[in-house]
Amino acid sequence: MKTTRTLRRASQWVVFLLFVFLFLNTEYKDNDVLPYAVNLFLRLDPLMAGAATLAGRALIGLVWPALIVALLTVVLGRFFCGWVCPLGAVIDAADATVFRKVRRKGAVPVSWRRYKYLLLFFLAASSLFTLQWVFLFDPISILIRTLTVSVFPAMNLVLHQIFDGFYRMPGPIPGISEPAYGFLKSHFLAFEQPVFRTSAIVGLLFLGILAAEKYQRRFWCRNLCPLGGLLALMGRFGLFRRRITEAGCTRCGLCESECRMGAIGGDVAVTDHGECIECMDCQAVCPEEVIHFSGKEGRRPAAVDLTRRGVLAAAALGAVTVPFFRVEAHGKAPDPLMIRPPGALPEGEFLARCTRCGECMRVCIANGLQPTWFEAGIEGMWSPILVSRIGYCEYNCTLCGQVCPTGAIRRLPLPEKRKTRLGLAYVDRSRCLPWVGQSDCIVCEEHCPTWSKAIVFREERTRTARGGWRTFKKPYIDEELCVGCGICETKCPLADRAAVLVTSRGETRSTGVLAR
Ligand code: SF4
Ligand code: SF4
Repeated sequence: MKTTRTLRRASQWVVFLLFVFLFLNTEYKDNDVLPYAVNLFLRLDPLMAGAATLAGRALIGLVWPALIVALLTVVLGRFFCGWVCPLGAVIDAADATVFRKVRRKGAVPVSWRRYKYLLLFFLAASSLFTLQWVFLFDPISILIRTLTVSVFPAMNLVLHQIFDGFYRMPGPIPGISEPAYGFLKSHFLAFEQPVFRTSAIVGLLFLGILAAEKYQRRFWCRNLCPLGGLLALMGRFGLFRRRITEAGCTRCGLCESECRMGAIGGDVAVTDHGECIECMDCQAVCPEEVIHFSGKEGRRPAAVDLTRRGVLAAAALGAVTVPFFRVEAHGKAPDPLMIRPPGALPEGEFLARCTRCGECMRVCIANGLQPTWFEAGIEGMWSPILVSRIGYCEYNCTLCGQVCPTGAIRRLPLPEKRKTRLGLAYVDRSRCLPWVGQSDCIVCEEHCPTWSKAIVFREERTRTARGGWRTFKKPYIDEELCVGCGICETKCPLADRAAVLVTSRGETRSTGVLAR
């Protein structure tokens, strides 16, 4: 009976490796078209699909694979959490390694399970009123975001430093390490070190999820995960369920103590089918081999400890919070630095659909897309904006529109993308080197990618820093041609704030007007 558990473990490994493969391939590979559906896991996620559909008030064709998971859950029960969920696999791996010998003191009350349902009702109600908070709690979104902004950049930094250290060592070590380094650079490591705002906080929150294992196995999945709550509700009456041949059971309790979800309680013949993730551990440890998973009815426990008042309160809270966020001042006076990716929907629709998964930030060639802090208010926290001093929007790239799982960023044809205006550049004449008469500089103009340069020079006599007069070529912006890609700001050679800056002024995502 251990075969099914082995199968489940194999499934977790295979799915996790597929997840990592898709994550690593969420990048530009000499082609502006991605060969795989790298956002597959997000599109399989019924919680995210439901929230984006409710909040966005639109049927989103891209998320149709989530329907398959929903239907399978209705038939098979909450198998997704035990066999598929990559965050569940990471938590299980942490449990089997870091927390293997931990003695868990003080049981977490069973009643805490209800929080995942309450969270689910809260999120559903706020989504219904177009405020989308699912990004904070959706497990797939959490994992991709953490890998993108925290884990991968940190790993990239550490590996580069280790191999640089090997290279400086005497003897045969560089000869051995360099081929391995070359392999990693061409298949895994980023060419330029990625950097992201929020990387520390996102990483710490993820560590918090793992650290909770100290108190209970699958703490996150049992008590907090709203996707788990949704699947539990869907799978509660699933046809495939645990049952015991009671005549052969000796009530040894091994199955109950082995269950990572606490789905067996009190009477070992009773299973909470909403909590059971069909991991098959109980079946594998049963010495009498009397546990089976089949379509036949198993004894069902009392319903979830969820009062009607609790459900109504969570839903009401989700609804009443909406106006508070809608009256935040940023709605009236948007931050000029809030430059959205090319193809982003108008702001309201964009925020309703964006799940802050970080796919667009991961794929952005020049590392220009960054998570917001509060530029778009708390409601827009961690949504993507272009931070031109860190990186720019590559003129020949349409990748962010290809990876966005909910269509918050539309997929644009390249000719349209090249003319989509994200904002406009302006020259800070109090800092620009030719403007202040300090030295010649044509860096911004050299990098400007538009078909006819959007930065033009005019020769003008200027008073130099030493008090004399000289002719300098001073940059001016042609606002008909500028698309706000930000490369001029990224490349400006001034050490701190650039002398050419891009703001969202003139952006055309609502009007659809294109640059010349
Ligand atoms: S922001 Fe620009 S460079 Fe970055 S992914 Fe989108 S299209 Fe590509
Ligand atoms: S933002 Fe700068 S580089 Fe980009 S099109 Fe405008 S002027 Fe050119």
